[in-house]
Amino acid sequence: MKKNLNQKLINLIEYYTLNNTSLILNDKPIKRSANNISSFVGQSKKQKLDKLKADIQLIKKCELKQNATNLVFGDGNINAKIMIIGEGPGANEDIEGKPFVGRAGKLLDQMLAAINLDRTNVYITNVVNYRPPSNRKPTEEEIERYFPYLTSHIQIINPKILLLLGSTALNTLIGNEEVISKARGKWIQKKIGSASPWIIASFHPAFLMRQPEQKKQSWVDLKMIRQKSKTLKI
Ligand code: URA
Repeated sequence: MKKNLNQKLINLIEYYTLNNTSLILNDKPIKRSANNISSFVGQSKKQKLDKLKADIQLIKKCELKQNATNLVFGDGNINAKIMIIGEGPGANEDIEGKPFVGRAGKLLDQMLAAINLDRTNVYITNVVNYRPPSNRKPTEEEIERYFPYLTSHIQIINPKILLLLGSTALNTLIGNEEVISKARGKWIQKKIGSASPWIIASFHPAFLMRQPEQKKQSWVDLKMIRQKSKTLKI
């Protein structure tokens, strides 16, 4: 625990030093790096994202990065009001440098199409931006390392709806005590730095490929997103 906290502090200080921004710490999951992205003021969204990408490329001593081929940053429309967060890149994503382009990505595209969405009206990223070796889950330490970048990413995109795919995204952004089967299909509104999206968790497409009988639950969640988009006039 103490080691985790120290590592977290080191990562955060490193990141904020890079960005020349002030560090505000809070031990609640959603605010643990309450980002101040003031160094981005005056820049366009595209410039902010380019800077964030460059910052991620500067990460050092990370097993994920050392073993990966490409940084997998994001895909879709940077002005989208709906942002989707997965766990981490797989083999295809690592080769192409884009999130959700493999089999799980194809299923995600079909799920989105079912509610008239595609990559022209959503933006997609992952909890970690480099492929975990052998597609293992990212460790707690790795998640902590990428968390400040993830929260900056969310603040820059500033979505109205945030869809968390699977337990890693759910636990990273909402809290470790949450279980995807219980937490899915419920709206919560939470501040993530300067963003305050409506957040919903749902099953990860890779899980749905293993357990297709759960697709009906996922369809319920997708319909909730369609309804919320109407209510929010997205
Ligand atoms: N699974 C994820 O969580 N993200 C991807 O980009 C691909 C597969």
